Amino acid sequence: MKYISTRGGVAPQSFEQVVLAGLAPDGGLFVPETIPTFSQDEIASWAGLSYTDLAFKVMSPFVAGAVSDNELKRIIDLSYSTFRHRAIAPLVQTGHNDWVLELFHGPTLAFKDFALQFLGHLLDNLLEKRGEKAVIMGATSGDTGSAAIEGCRRCRNIDIFILHPHNRVSAVQRRQMTTVAGSNIHNIALEGNFDDCQNLVKGSFSDQTFLPQDRKLVAVNSINWARIMAQIVYYFWASLSLGGPLRKVSFAVPTGNFGDIFAGYLAHKMGLPVDQLVIGTNANDILHRCLSANDHSRHQLIHSLSPSMDIMVSSNFERLLFDLYNRDGAAIASLMDEFKHSGNLVLDREELGRAQGLFASHRLDDEGTLAVIREEYDTSGYLLDPHTAIGVAAGRHCRRDPAVPMIALATAHPAKFPDAVKKAGYPQDPPLPHHMADLFERTERFEVIANDRAAVQNFMATHLSE
Ligand SMILES: *Cc1c(COP(=O)(O)O)cnc(C)c1O
Repeated sequence: MKYISTRGGVAPQSFEQVVLAGLAPDGGLFVPETIPTFSQDEIASWAGLSYTDLAFKVMSPFVAGAVSDNELKRIIDLSYSTFRHRAIAPLVQTGHNDWVLELFHGPTLAFKDFALQFLGHLLDNLLEKRGEKAVIMGATSGDTGSAAIEGCRRCRNIDIFILHPHNRVSAVQRRQMTTVAGSNIHNIALEGNFDDCQNLVKGSFSDQTFLPQDRKLVAVNSINWARIMAQIVYYFWASLSLGGPLRKVSFAVPTGNFGDIFAGYLAHKMGLPVDQLVIGTNANDILHRCLSANDHSRHQLIHSLSPSMDIMVSSNFERLLFDLYNRDGAAIASLMDEFKHSGNLVLDREELGRAQGLFASHRLDDEGTLAVIREEYDTSGYLLDPHTAIGVAAGRHCRRDPAVPMIALATAHPAKFPDAVKKAGYPQDPPLPHHMADLFERTERFEVIANDRAAVQNFMATHLSE
């Protein structure tokens, strides 16, 4: 399997190159040269497989030539052995034909574990075979940092440095990062805001001379292809549990960078019968504006109760555009160039119409989010986190056929967002799951460093493993 860039400026690359590179050199995103497909019979034959066996079936065409069958099986087993539910991704019924797919049983209680557990073990395997070591550097305002740290804690060939803004992330989120022990894990509390963290990471990627010759930075943000790939699996999983592929299902997905729902789109392209893919956005609604009014203009960031969806631009949307424009890299390069300069991107009617056939969207502000949490708890007793609430509401609002099961993706456990849940009327802090109950007693480890590139890079250079 080879990979090409959405901007058409790169010769086809191997899976390994793509995973280690993150972004394509022409500024585009990597996508498979051809998307593998499965027949209905083949998909039907997977009914009853365990999550990990299904993951092997779905992912193996993408890694062909880079990772052997046995290696892939081992990586998958290691990745999902840390999940605390036997089903890995259990489905819960919350109404007539309404379902919630719980993706929060991983070590950090959010769906990002599905991708980052896998990516950590995958990188370790690729590096081991090359006899190399790599350095992961990232900035976080919450979920991604802890999921990346958990994903790398057992990796021998990776040192990880995660920057968070000092005193500006919630206690639960900080503790999920800083209580993970390991000589290869480094938390940096930067004396600055999230933008400062991001700028420092960006600057370090563009000039890596502070690292020794044999170390390179690897990006694990949501544009990394391997993350998308690992997320395709649970779309097949949920469908198979509800009568697929003989019966169509729909998915409602709380969306930020468009990585999660793009995986659903790929599942559909690979042969899974999907009726609707519903995008839920918070007040940062660029995707909703684009799909409903062809308005993909950049607005200011709004801080919401669903912080993991606070984005100005959805980076993975470019991957969908590439398909909508019949995989014409030159067309995407010029669209993205126009967007960069004017702050707006207007789609052609035909391409927009094609997207609207499969995708629907809905926007929900903070007030609406709280109302949905309250209402769902009152009627079904099921407690939603603020991100999931947006997905659930979007699924209800956009549903076209009540006979088709609507599966809302639950992307985080409510205990991660106690303030929002209490604001919605829940009387106490939602309890952390059993295995995390002692989070507030665990020892924290982090380094407070000034907002100064040289200071951070010096810390990194002097804390690499042998
Ligand atoms: C990251 C995240 C999202 C958004 O996912 P995208 O792939 O960026 O669209 C939604 N909910 C939670 C809890 C998240 O952590």
